[in-house]
Amino acid sequence: MTPTTSEASRYQQLRDHLNYLRLPDAAAALPTVLDQAKTEKLSPTATLERLFRIEVDATEARRLTGRLRFANLPSPATLEDFDYEAQPGVDPALIRDLASNRYLQTATNILLIGPPGVGKTMLAVGLARKVAEGGHRTYFTNAADLAARCHRAAIEGRWATTMRFYAGPACLVIDELGYLPLPAEAASALFQVVNQRYLKSSIIMTTNRPVTEWGQVLGDNTVAAALLDRLLHRSVVIDITGESYRLRDHQARTDNLRRTVQPATATLDRSPSGQFR
Ligand code: ADP
Ligand code: MG
Repeated sequence: MTPTTSEASRYQQLRDHLNYLRLPDAAAALPTVLDQAKTEKLSPTATLERLFRIEVDATEARRLTGRLRFANLPSPATLEDFDYEAQPGVDPALIRDLASNRYLQTATNILLIGPPGVGKTMLAVGLARKVAEGGHRTYFTNAADLAARCHRAAIEGRWATTMRFYAGPACLVIDELGYLPLPAEAASALFQVVNQRYLKSSIIMTTNRPVTEWGQVLGDNTVAAALLDRLLHRSVVIDITGESYRLRDHQARTDNLRRTVQPATATLDRSPSGQFR
């Protein structure tokens, strides 16, 4: 059946409305949805719901893509890829709970502490991804980059803007505190970032240094104490003391090799807790 002229022009008007309102996916889906309405005998409500759901789904996907682009995640890691058997120190129930993003509501911080290679960055990336998927803004950086950016901002007179930038996301990830000692002004910038987010929005921080050594890391015991005070006041601390995932295969190969070569002394140099030195 060919549509009457008035039906055809009304259809055209409807398409124009959708385009005028910037609903391009609904506009594109209109002919299909109208056909479905006819063949499936959909009610007007069901037809409209189907049409707008298409636009809502597309908008959600676009926004998630935007949030993930902004998030600056260094890897595609997800929490689902995390192997809990390889890292018995990490409680799957705790990570599941954190994956719900509920900690954001109380501006709770997450501190991941442990030696290199145990999955701190992977967990931080996975949690940040959940934050983005949950509809919140997150930004991933590391302590050295944050310090360098604050340093440039101070020189170029953009300090306030930069501080606002770090205050913005619902969850700020600061990776790798402690790999490089921070100069005094960097420690102070880090403190200001932590301080302005205190009790307002969450920070996920990873470090390879126990908090007792943060005085050395930050080059100042008073700054370290003040920073830890704010960071830990409302926090979840995940202390990962297990073995390096990176070195796991390497270790197995070496152990095998030693077993074949020297059956009596199949050991690597490890501390009593099982950590690599
Ligand atoms: P860290 O930040 O603690 O130094 P990473 O998160 O960078 O460690 O982990 C090192 C590598 O090992 C990464 O490729 C990471 O994906 C992988 N990895 C570490 N722990 C696990 C784990 N439990 N399950 C799966 N992959 C892991
Ligand atoms: Mg790391």
